[in-house]
Amino acid sequence: MSRARFICRRCGASWEADVPESINVSEHPELKEKVRDGSLFIQECPSCGERHLAQYQTLYHDPEASLLIWLLPGGAEPPSGVASIASQLPGYTLRIVRDAGSLIEKVNIHDAGLDDATVELCKYVTRHELAEKQGAKALELNMKFYRLQGADNEIVLSFPMDGAMHAVNIGFNVYEDCSAILLRNPDAMPSEGFARVDSDWVDTIFK
Ligand SMILES: [Zn+2]
Repeated sequence: MSRARFICRRCGASWEADVPESINVSEHPELKEKVRDGSLFIQECPSCGERHLAQYQTLYHDPEASLLIWLLPGGAEPPSGVASIASQLPGYTLRIVRDAGSLIEKVNIHDAGLDDATVELCKYVTRHELAEKQGAKALELNMKFYRLQGADNEIVLSFPMDGAMHAVNIGFNVYEDCSAILLRNPDAMPSEGFARVDSDWVDTIFK
């Protein structure tokens, strides 16, 4: 545990709370659901009761899935010693995310048996398809993988637009096509070590 300080965006009150420095879901299986439903990141303002999705540094570790995800808000870099040790773990997926919502998404993608780089490419394709119908502002949509649905494993992506949450379903064939594109372009694959795999990363492939 470490102490973190939070400031309420509604009333400006500040408070401190213990937050986990790391989340090992093999040692503490009960934590995985608290990550997936976001409750591990909810902080309630002691003054006005406003609930926040709190941003703090933590390292998510799923040893059985060989998955390490570093939540590093505000552009922080991973401590170099730990990062270099982790880089030598064979077969591990190593990721950096900048906000709790992205950590939750990565866990959901991995638990669905999908590859996050391929999902980012699916989101890119979907943003561009929506932009053809709805205009260029669709390119800025912050899409998140929500879940697989139905016997055909449709991929449900959710995104906020005009103050409400929306969802779009894409066929699993889109995922397979995107997977094939990445396999044909090994240079586009995420870098070694702790990599950011998000919309900025996917934009570097197509620039
Ligand atoms: Zn408050």
